[in-house]
Amino acid sequence: MAALRPPPLDAAAGQVARTAAAAPDWGTLAGVARSCVACPELAATRQHVVVGDVPTGGRPRLVLIGEAPGATEDETGRPFVGRSGALLDQLLAEAGLDRGQAAVLNIVKCRPPGNRTPKTPEVARCSGWLRRQLELLDARVVVALGLSSAKWFLGPRTKLAEVRGRPHEVDGRAVWATYHPSAAIRFGPNGAPRAALLADLTAVAGTL
Ligand code: SF4
Repeated sequence: MAALRPPPLDAAAGQVARTAAAAPDWGTLAGVARSCVACPELAATRQHVVVGDVPTGGRPRLVLIGEAPGATEDETGRPFVGRSGALLDQLLAEAGLDRGQAAVLNIVKCRPPGNRTPKTPEVARCSGWLRRQLELLDARVVVALGLSSAKWFLGPRTKLAEVRGRPHEVDGRAVWATYHPSAAIRFGPNGAPRAALLADLTAVAGTL
């Protein structure tokens, strides 16, 4: 069984990890995370800390995890509500999955300026929140959307084409890695990423 291999901790990451680990429930964690300033650049430029969506009716059937909030997510404070979110909702429905029964999270909770890729220390700091979120949700099935998310679970040398299409056991969870909806948008409705994302979501649905 593989174990999570997030980046090493710096002092700020250690503080986040200790604070997150002490949160006894989702509401407490969300409240504390919303005032997190562990990443000075992101904290200075964000509008919202996008903590994530969770089902109202209890434990999620699966957990979807993207890279970081975009502009619309930063404005609204909710994950996957822009163009990528609309496509994700559509593909989930085509795969027979209900977003309302899923938790929707990101590796990094604050929008990187200009939608740049999150830096390694930012991923390391935010990992404390995500690790505790996965514990609190008792997540058994995880879909990592995009390479940053896949690397968080499967290691820094992960290549999506090599790992997608099948579950990987990580810390007792079934982790599926697939394309981010933004890649499906970039390559168009007939592109390979859209077809692969739909195929992977359909395969996940078949295991639930
Ligand atoms: S990205 Fe995560 S660790 Fe960094 S300031 Fe935002 S919530 Fe805190």
